[in-house]
Amino acid sequence: LSPLEVAEAYLRRVRELDPGLKAFLTLNERLLEEARRVERDLPLAGLLVAVKDNIATKGLRTTAGSRLLENFVPPYDATAVARLKAQGALVLGKTNLDEFGMGSSTEHSAFFPSKNPFDPSRVPGGSSGGSAAAVAADLAPLALGSDTGGSVRQPASFCGVYGLKPTYGRVSRFGLVAYASSLEGIGPMARSVRDLALLMDAMAGLDPMDATSLDLPPRFQEALEEPLPPLRLGVVREGLSGNSPGVERALEEALGVFQGLGLRVKEVSWPSLPLALAAYYILAPAEASSNLARYDGTLFGTRAEGEEVWQVVEATRARFGLEVKRRVLVGTFVLSSGYYEAYYERAQAFRARLKAEARALFQEVDLLLLPTTPHPAFPLGGRPDPLAMYREDLYTVGANLTGLPALSLPAGFEGHLPVGLQLLAPWGKDELLLRAALAHE
Ligand code: GLN
Repeated sequence: LSPLEVAEAYLRRVRELDPGLKAFLTLNERLLEEARRVERDLPLAGLLVAVKDNIATKGLRTTAGSRLLENFVPPYDATAVARLKAQGALVLGKTNLDEFGMGSSTEHSAFFPSKNPFDPSRVPGGSSGGSAAAVAADLAPLALGSDTGGSVRQPASFCGVYGLKPTYGRVSRFGLVAYASSLEGIGPMARSVRDLALLMDAMAGLDPMDATSLDLPPRFQEALEEPLPPLRLGVVREGLSGNSPGVERALEEALGVFQGLGLRVKEVSWPSLPLALAAYYILAPAEASSNLARYDGTLFGTRAEGEEVWQVVEATRARFGLEVKRRVLVGTFVLSSGYYEAYYERAQAFRARLKAEARALFQEVDLLLLPTTPHPAFPLGGRPDPLAMYREDLYTVGANLTGLPALSLPAGFEGHLPVGLQLLAPWGKDELLLRAALAHE
């Protein structure tokens, strides 16, 4: 098959099936032309990638799921996208997300919610729900998501695909629409571990455009050829109850699989993990309130009408969705004089403690196993209470607060719905995560 034939086949499939799933916000209108012209000897020649719509794509609308950016066409590519393109990959289209990445279901998209391919009455997860749904339904072979508090891993688990949140800084954030800069990064989603490796080898590495990017050269595909040593696998249970029966069963089964592969399973404790959610929902909104201040219609954000500048600003910012407004208000509050010490500073101190505990834990074990989510995909409209929506992120935010790499792998079903489990590794050991996931596959 030529790149053109593959692109035509995928476009046909998207046109047929996406009206039911609503995974895409924008399709790349130039795809066929690009497929015709792609240099055939490049390593990723013609590989189609769906890109979450908070990742900048040159000449292709990038909305971040928000009315504020609904007409924004970036004049540049995110580094991750530029590197994929340089190897011959093509952007198939841009996928739906919760506005600015704020949510766990894609229901906070300013445009429409996406649906779970396993059950269209349920959410695909979020915020990278469009990417997960597209990969699960094979509307795209591969996708990029972003993960601030679980947005690659949770939708991957709800849709039965693999998703990696790399070590903080391993993939450049240049061109990722900022939500909470100290927590987030771009990560790959795919139906196999080898596909994750393919994307990581192309995307990861130092980038002069992102001062927090790491000089850790990726060696994912190479690492997958090495046999898995008899690692120590820690499993955290204390303080983390309330999982659905299917999640508990998947956990037991996976422990069995890993034991069969020669890993030594050990119960460990990460005492502060149950509190990570509270710290996350202070720190993430705090950073968001600062990052989103730029969308006031003067330089950034679709400008609303108004006589005076303050009226322009007010009318422009009124276009934020309800959840975004809530986060900006919470963030402004926890950073304000008199409350800063009580909330922001304590959350930062907690973050340091969580990191120290993780460091100690990884003296005892080489990998950690946790559920990705407490239960499989919930119904559309099933989490009207914002706090209930936040609680969905119980197991995922720990990796973001610590910067550690974490991978969600498909681990069975509860009824007709996929269940995912999460592996965590020490800082910079992303390759090890993929080796363990491949052995499990
Ligand atoms: N659900 C979390 C939030 O709303 C995580 C989102 C994300 O990782 N982008 O903040």
